[in-house]
Amino acid sequence: MNSPFDPECRRCPRLAAFLDAVRHDEPDYHCRPVGPFGDADARLLIVGLAPGKHGANRTGRPFTGDYAGILLYETLHKFGFASGPISTAADDGLELLDARITNSVKCLPPENKPLPLEIKTCNRYLRAELTQSRSARVILALGAIAHAAVLRACDLASGAYRFAHAAEHHLSGGRVLLDSYHCSRYNTQTRRLTTSMFEGVIGRARELIRR
Ligand code: SF4
Repeated sequence: MNSPFDPECRRCPRLAAFLDAVRHDEPDYHCRPVGPFGDADARLLIVGLAPGKHGANRTGRPFTGDYAGILLYETLHKFGFASGPISTAADDGLELLDARITNSVKCLPPENKPLPLEIKTCNRYLRAELTQSRSARVILALGAIAHAAVLRACDLASGAYRFAHAAEHHLSGGRVLLDSYHCSRYNTQTRRLTTSMFEGVIGRARELIRR
């Protein structure tokens, strides 16, 4: 059943307790579920993993202040999906252009690792976002967890849609699920994901939208 996003959600006890602890140490941080950023009518919907402790969990906007947001917003800007290349704060004036960004899990998880039950519990919100985003032609999953979360939200069996960087999976309604390695610090610093690889994926999203 679809549920609208609840900015005060505490359905995951471990994550709610963790946010309480982080808020105690960092009282100026957002430390609540981080909702989607961008127009619900956008044709590109980007799905990440979860807020980073000193990034989205601090600023309250997906990938804003996160290391992973550096490459993401630079590349979105390069391909015309963002009004600027840098995302620093929720009130920095940056706008997404025909793009929306959300996460598979809306609350900061310890060690950046949500538990399977937490991913499942939070899927209700991703499911609702996919329903709301009627215009979304391309759903870009950043990483295997986001890929699986999108499939779950669409009631699709994961075995039929294997995650691979730059893989394209055709879903119902003319939608394409496009995969990318997550633009995390680890992946970019180890060059598992290079700038050129990521630009290839965002450029492909642009092509698919134009069709
Ligand atoms: S992760 Fe999702 S379901 Fe769990 S408490 Fe946060 S918003 Fe609620």
